[in-house]
Amino acid sequence: MKKRPIQWLGLFIVFLFPLTFLYFLPENTPEWEEDAGAFSIPTEPDIYFGFPKDSFFIYEATIKPNEFLSGILLGHKVSYAIIAGLEQETRDTYSVRRLRSGRDYAILNRDTSTAADYFIYKPGPFSYVVYSLDPDSLYAEVHRHPIDTVIRTGAGHIEHSLWVAMQNGGMNPALISKMEDALAWTVDFYHIQKGDQFKLLYEELKIDGEAVGIGRLLGANYIDRSGDNYAIYFENENYSGFYDLDGLPMKRAFLRAPVRYSRISSRYNPRRMHPVLQRIRPHLGTDYAAPHGTEIFTVADGVVTEVAYTSGNGNYVRIRHDHVYETQYLHMSRFAKGIRPGVRVTQGQVIGYVGSTGMATGPHVCFRFWKNGRQVDHLRLNLPPPEPMSDEDLPYYFAHRDSMLPIIDAIRLPDEKPEFSLVVGLE
Ligand SMILES: [Zn+2]
Repeated sequence: MKKRPIQWLGLFIVFLFPLTFLYFLPENTPEWEEDAGAFSIPTEPDIYFGFPKDSFFIYEATIKPNEFLSGILLGHKVSYAIIAGLEQETRDTYSVRRLRSGRDYAILNRDTSTAADYFIYKPGPFSYVVYSLDPDSLYAEVHRHPIDTVIRTGAGHIEHSLWVAMQNGGMNPALISKMEDALAWTVDFYHIQKGDQFKLLYEELKIDGEAVGIGRLLGANYIDRSGDNYAIYFENENYSGFYDLDGLPMKRAFLRAPVRYSRISSRYNPRRMHPVLQRIRPHLGTDYAAPHGTEIFTVADGVVTEVAYTSGNGNYVRIRHDHVYETQYLHMSRFAKGIRPGVRVTQGQVIGYVGSTGMATGPHVCFRFWKNGRQVDHLRLNLPPPEPMSDEDLPYYFAHRDSMLPIIDAIRLPDEKPEFSLVVGLE
């Protein structure tokens, strides 16, 4: 018994002390949270979206496919003139044209023998819109529910897929793309292996105690055959994004591939037997097979130099990234909107869609990479390392990293036995 206070102190230092830092982490509140709290969600049982419940007859329903606002409101004695006026008056606040089927709404009426007083629309979990149907005061008012952000951890190991691993760990599958965004430059998510493991530290968004979404990913560790791959989120006046343990940005100038969820069907090979021509012809690109219509994105920022068709290449786009590197994307079914020579594109932007135009046996994108005007195998290329953080900012990053690392490392994998019995006692 005498040892207890010391054990608790140890626990505080190892687990709770780093957590005290955590609560100061979200320095810049995300955009959607800006005016959270300006309006308050009714928590009192007799208040309904800001209105006293006992003063209104409340009708709740879901907008059906092909149902119009006029159809709904006419059924509640609201005149055509009021509906037309409402459409006019709410154009700049929340246009009634933004109403969608499948979303919930409510109608509030003081006296059901006369026209309804309010129409409340719920576009999603984060907000609701109040439309006043008073002919002397027609308006729309957008209210945001106050959002609580809680820090959560999650972990999993790959048996079948990331998706299954997330489900088994009780995590929101939205975390998959967050993790990919953080680690896509170091982990090959197209070829994950059974036995790979991951640990995540992230924000969960809650409204009235109910989880409604995922906020930021704060840190991740993906453990594959190459070892630990850490990504830690950092933000100050000069930098924001994911960094590795040395303070190098995770984001590289070039993405690994121009399509998601694809497989390499043919590698760069100067002595390949051509599948259509049936003779040796160099293959100076990498083929990614993907279903017809899959999005193709540019692997780096740049300027479009060619958007064209030839009998061999089919529809293709060529992009110059800087004075050294160029890329080209072949056999597209069609180009993305607005892609034409001279247009500036940013890494990950969709430039076209997978097809099999030109000389192609099936839907794929042939991805070609030029370095100083010569075609090269981008999978073997040592691309320039990213710009490191400045010497002034690095110490701040390292301090942040040192507070995050023990927390990430302490996350237990689903089948891992707890190290300290004391921790079990806490749960
Ligand atoms: Zn090819």
